[in-house]
Amino acid sequence: MTRLLLFALFFYLGYRLLALVGRVLFTRPAPPPAHTREGEEMVRDPQCGTFLPRSDAVAAMVAGEDHYFCSSACRDAYRGKG
Ligand SMILES: [Zn+2]
Repeated sequence: MTRLLLFALFFYLGYRLLALVGRVLFTRPAPPPAHTREGEEMVRDPQCGTFLPRSDAVAAMVAGEDHYFCSSACRDAYRGKG
């Protein structure tokens, strides 16, 4: 019985140790999102207000003006709005 308890304790400690090591090894500071490339012009989606790099934006001419959207869904919604 004691041996079983020891085994369980050992197993638990080993597990905790592995979890700790794993956390140290695999947890890195979150990399900057791809949307913060430096030196790139940021544009604002007039539909939802999101800022994103111009190269990632969906460009559309709305009412004679160039607008940049985070997605075609936003573009369509903005167009629909008028
Ligand atoms: Zn949007």
